[in-house]
Amino acid sequence: MADREKVVNDTCQPADSVIERAIKTFGVENQLWMVIEEMSELAKEICKHKRGFDNANNIADETADVLIMLEQVKIIFGISRKVNERIEYKLNRLENRLAVKGNDAGGEAESGHCGGGDG
Ligand SMILES: [Mg+2]
Repeated sequence: MADREKVVNDTCQPADSVIERAIKTFGVENQLWMVIEEMSELAKEICKHKRGFDNANNIADETADVLIMLEQVKIIFGISRKVNERIEYKLNRLENRLAVKGNDAGGEAESGHCGGGDG
């Protein structure tokens, strides 16, 4: 059994959520491959949109898949609290950057990413 699989089996509460049951049923390694697969499917739909397809429903469907898989990532790595902390930090940082941009009307807009040079 892989270390990550052992962590899940040792630390998960009784399988009372669909998310936890999915990890236990299919295994950590399979679910980590599924994270990548679902992210790729979402990326494909966004690429198709950029090429002119009217595929908002497909984007919604794949976004749902990715969010479900990301919930599994948080459980697998035991990082739910850390992710929440990082989201709060990064949203605050983004808010500050937007405030600076709002005061810099002549500046050239950067791409709308929420990250920064440090991730
Ligand atoms: Mg999918």
